[in-house]
Amino acid sequence: AKQNGRNGISFYRASLSAQASRFVTIGAAIRRALQADEFELVYQPQYCLRTRRVAGVEALVRWRQGGRLVPPSEFIGYAEELGLIDALGEWVLRGACRQLSRWMAEGVPPLRMAVNLSPRQLGSPGLVAMVRQVLAEVDVAPDLLELEITEGALVSSEPEIAIALEALRASGVGIAIDDFGTGYSSLAYLRHLPAGLIKIDKSFLAGVPDEKSAREVVAAIVAMAHALHLGVVAEGVEHEAQADFLARAGCDFAQGWFYGRPMAPERIAALLGSPRQA
Ligand code: C2E
Ligand code: CA
Ligand code: CA
Ligand code: CA
Repeated sequence: AKQNGRNGISFYRASLSAQASRFVTIGAAIRRALQADEFELVYQPQYCLRTRRVAGVEALVRWRQGGRLVPPSEFIGYAEELGLIDALGEWVLRGACRQLSRWMAEGVPPLRMAVNLSPRQLGSPGLVAMVRQVLAEVDVAPDLLELEITEGALVSSEPEIAIALEALRASGVGIAIDDFGTGYSSLAYLRHLPAGLIKIDKSFLAGVPDEKSAREVVAAIVAMAHALHLGVVAEGVEHEAQADFLARAGCDFAQGWFYGRPMAPERIAALLGSPRQA
């Protein structure tokens, strides 16, 4: 048993140092990728369920490695752990805002640009100044920017986070609560957040429209959000029957593969202005 234990420990040590060197390698690669401009943004349309037109887009980051587009699940966590998320987050925000201002210069109707904010960024003292700086640089109206923050990050909030949120709100930037329904926030708590929008997590959409309980939960979230004067976006809408249900439930916006996968900015421009045929 002792022998096993010792082997167990040395194995654990070996894997720890393997893990540590993996972190070092990935950290260096992320830094290089930021300098070499290897990150890219794709955009997923958010449709208004009343007008059936594109109301906004969500910017989603990718890492181009040769021919492969690496999804954020493979590097955001590392960037957070390695203290690189502020730099990456700033790159994302600047890129998304520049794209928005390019679209506006092309004469597209105003649309909302949603950008994901890591919970780690919310704790960073420079965040509010950085956001204001980027908005000033690109000359985009702050109310066209929507920062998406996961419900979990808001619930576990420390005073600095509440202060940062208030300051962002005061700058005129919109705040959306992402992955809503997964973070155990109470109604009372929601009332005090400076958010204007909630995004129903895609896990709830999976059972819509077939399961009664899923339909009821989604309808209840929409009703609750509206009672609190919040707009509602449903994410993960993959089928027309889901879109129909959401429209009937009074949900405001919908996003998902049914409407369009995340795509290059040129393809978004082609969608703007024309209603979704359904
Ligand atoms: P999220 O913010 O919840 O983004 C929605 C994710 O769902 C995206 O995955 C999107 O491609 C995917 N999705 C969209 N429509 C559908 C659908 O109909 N069905 C299904 N099954 N999935 C759909 P993606 O792009 O891989 O991003 C994953 C997560 O990575 C995001 O989740 C977000 O938390 C994070 N992320 C992405 N870009 C950024 C970024 O620029 N900064 C930060 N901090 N996080 C980011
Ligand atoms: Ca999001
Ligand atoms: Ca989400
Ligand atoms: Ca998510």
